[in-house]
Amino acid sequence: VTALIKKLFLAGKMVNVNSELPFDEASEIALEYNCIAEEEEKVDVIEELLKEDEEDEKDMVPRPPVVCVMGHVDHGKTSLLDAIRQTKVTSGEAGGITQAIGASVVDVNGQTITFLDTPGHEAFTAMRMRGAQSTDIAILVVAADDGVMPQTIEAINHAKAAGIEIIVAINKIDKESANIERVKQELTEYELIPEDWGGSTIFCPVSAHTKEGIDNLLEMILLTADVLELKANPNRKARGIVIEAELDKGRGPVATMLVQKGTLHVGDYIAVGASHGKVRAMTNSRGERVTEALPSTPVQIQGLNTVPDAGEIFMAVDNEKEARTISETYISQGKEKLLADTKQRMSLDDLYSQ
Ligand code: GDP
Ligand code: MG
Repeated sequence: VTALIKKLFLAGKMVNVNSELPFDEASEIALEYNCIAEEEEKVDVIEELLKEDEEDEKDMVPRPPVVCVMGHVDHGKTSLLDAIRQTKVTSGEAGGITQAIGASVVDVNGQTITFLDTPGHEAFTAMRMRGAQSTDIAILVVAADDGVMPQTIEAINHAKAAGIEIIVAINKIDKESANIERVKQELTEYELIPEDWGGSTIFCPVSAHTKEGIDNLLEMILLTADVLELKANPNRKARGIVIEAELDKGRGPVATMLVQKGTLHVGDYIAVGASHGKVRAMTNSRGERVTEALPSTPVQIQGLNTVPDAGEIFMAVDNEKEARTISETYISQGKEKLLADTKQRMSLDDLYSQ
């Protein structure tokens, strides 16, 4: 140490035993002592997680759209989701649809749509912060008797900032006081202009109560999804996001996760922010046990060591050690705190279904 300090001093540099040198400088000096310096690899776990891994176009296959419902409180987000679920219950499941995992998958003439029941404002914002995205299409619910309200505008801004396609559902058209034209007029101010007015936004008049227009809305979602050409590679390690998570008394930490790429299997090792584990069991949106989940599929999983945060990115890795290393690095990098801070800054309650 003394020799090095002296050497640097003579070179005009005042340092002490705790000083850090740039790598270039350090490696120069090391050479004088017949040493070859190697730079310590600094892995930013979050960067790694966000890094879009190269995907070959030929491996990509179509995947179902992931849809969330947004809008002002009481405009009918929950009712609309319920109506969609009810119209799509196949006879075998009649009455048996429990909202098991906070996301649902509906079948529309052989095509699938995934609805996030509770993307949760936190999840949404946390994900956006990382450039990750949970949804492809946002259904903006506006009550035909109430029109554009403050949270309608907030929802529009969020969807736009996230680059999500917006479909407008003008709800409560069964009401005497419903005024569809007024809603269209009001939304033009936010650049949501109906096609018949020369714009490109799809407007679907619906009633969650009478179910009028629900089938049309579902068709429009599929049409929009077609245009978006949503694709993913199912033959790779899974990656996705946490939609919601909690500590279950009997089962331990349970997390509903949306698989976005690859296929998640029972037995896979995963890292999810500060937690990690092995997928012990998986349940689909109908509450059935499954052993694998393809892209755009929501599943509830058991087997994590702690409860991850909503919005956290998960990735399947090769083995337990890798999973643990990633979560430990994540913790040491203090990203947890970063996310916690973000959450406190959010004020987006009631934008979403629930
Ligand atoms: P959210 O806060 O956006 O989730 O709204 P809800 O789904 O809880 O609905 C708010 C209120 O509007 C409830 O009293 C619903 O029964 C009512 N509502 C929802 N959809 C319709 C509809 O299509 N027609 C009528 N008449 N009322 C509706
Ligand atoms: Mg609600």
